[in-house]
Amino acid sequence: MLDYVELEADLSAEERMIRDTAREFVEEQVRPDIGEHWIEGTFPTDLIPELGEMGFYAPNLEGYGLPGVSETAYGLLMQELEACDSGLRSMASVQGALVMYPIYAFGSEEQKEEWLPALGAGEAVGCFGLTEPQHGSNPTAMETRAERADEGYVLNGSKTWITNSPIADVAVVWARDRSAEDTPVRGFLVETDRDGVSTNKIEEKLSLRASITGEIGLNDVRVPEANVLPNVEGMKGPLSCLTQARYGIAWGAIGAARDCFETARQYALDREQFGGPIARFQLQQAKLAEMATQITTAQLLAHRLADLKERGDLRPQHVSMAKRHNVRVARDQSRIAREMLGGNGITADYSPMRHMANLETVYTYEGTHDIHTLILGQDLTGIPAFE
Ligand SMILES: Cc1cc2nc3c(=O)[nH]c(=O)nc-3n(C[C@H](O)[C@H](O)[C@H](O)COP(=O)(O)OP(=O)(O)OC[C@H]3O[C@@H](n4cnc5c(N)ncnc54)[C@H](O)[C@@H]3O)c2cc1C
Repeated sequence: MLDYVELEADLSAEERMIRDTAREFVEEQVRPDIGEHWIEGTFPTDLIPELGEMGFYAPNLEGYGLPGVSETAYGLLMQELEACDSGLRSMASVQGALVMYPIYAFGSEEQKEEWLPALGAGEAVGCFGLTEPQHGSNPTAMETRAERADEGYVLNGSKTWITNSPIADVAVVWARDRSAEDTPVRGFLVETDRDGVSTNKIEEKLSLRASITGEIGLNDVRVPEANVLPNVEGMKGPLSCLTQARYGIAWGAIGAARDCFETARQYALDREQFGGPIARFQLQQAKLAEMATQITTAQLLAHRLADLKERGDLRPQHVSMAKRHNVRVARDQSRIAREMLGGNGITADYSPMRHMANLETVYTYEGTHDIHTLILGQDLTGIPAFE
C-alpha cells in the first residue's frame, strides 16, 4: 500500500495492529459485496453490530467501554474503512464523531450511561440532525425550534440529508430554544419512536449509494428535560462535533484515493496494448507519479493533524485545511484512476468510479469545499467573506 515517505514506519505496535485488523475485516467482510450494495442503494446493516464488536465506533474516546486509542490509530481506521467505501466510513463517523462525541462531551452522566455503551457496541444506531431544507452551509439560520412545555420541551421543524435517520434509534437534533433569551441553539436526544417523529428515506442518490440517508420531521415532539444535552449552548455544540468528524474525513479520503491508486497501478501493469503493459507508457506513468505525490501530501497533512490533536493544539481551521485538501485530492485522483482503466473503469467491477461518485458527497458534506475555503480565508486575513 502506498506509503511513499514511510510515515507508517513511525506507527506504534497498537496503531499497526488496528490498521491491519481494520484492513483485514474490510477485505473479508465488506469488500466482496460492497459493489452490489452500492448498485442496490443499500447499506450492509447486518455489519452494524460487527463494526461495534470490532471497536470501530469512537475508539478514540475513553471510558464507558471505549478504549481511548491514539488519534493516529483512529485516523488509520477511518482510512481503511473509506478505502472500501465512503459509505462505510460515514457510518462509523456519524455514529462515533457526530452522535457519541456530543453525548460524551456535553451529555449528563445518565445520558452517557444510557447511550455510549449501546452505540459503541452497535446495538443502537444514532444520527445527527443539523442540516435543514433551507439551511445547509449556514446552519446558524436554522428554523427548528424547541419550546418549554410541562417538564420538558416541544420540538418542531425538519432536518434533511441526515445519514442513517431511517434506521436510527436516537437522533441528536440541534434546535433553537425559543423559551430562552437570545434563542440559543441546544442539542436534544430524540428517540425516533417518539410521537411526531418521521424519518423518510431519500431515494435514488447518485453518490454515497451504500449509505442510508433521510429526513427528520419533528411535529410537536415532546421530550423531557433529561433529553437536553446540558453542557453546551450555541453553535459551538454542533460545530465542535463537525471538527471531530472532519478530522476523520481528512484521513478517510486518503483511503479512497489510495484504493484508486492501487487499482490503477495494478491495472496498468496487467493491461496490455500495443504489445505490452500500458504501465510502460510515459503518459500512464505521469498519472501514477502525480497520484502518488498528491496522496503523499494528503498523508503528511493527516499525520501532522494527528500530532496536533494528541497534544491539544489542533484548531478547527487546521481541520478545514486538511478536509478541503485531502478530499479534493481524492476527488481529482479518483477521476484519473478511472481514466486509466479505460472502458472497464466505468463498471462496478472496479472501485474508482464508485469512489469518484461517493467523493462528490464527501466534497459537499461536513462543510463544502467552498465553505472551508472561506474559513481559511477568514483565518488568514481576519475578514469573514461568508455574506
Ligand atoms: C449524502 C449526504 C449525507 C449527509 N449527511 C448529513 C448528516 O448526517 N447530518 C447533517 O446535518 N447533514 C448532512 N448532510 C448535509 C450536508 O452537510 C450539506 O449538504 C452541506 O452542508 C451543504 O449544504 P446544502 O446541500 O444545503 O448546500 P448549500 O448550502 O445550498 O450550498 C450550495 C452551493 O453554494 C455554495 N455556497 C454556500 N454558501 C456560500 C458562500 N457563503 N460563499 C460561496 N459559496 C457558497 C456551496 O459551497 C455549494 O456549492 C449530508 C449531505 C449529503 C449529500
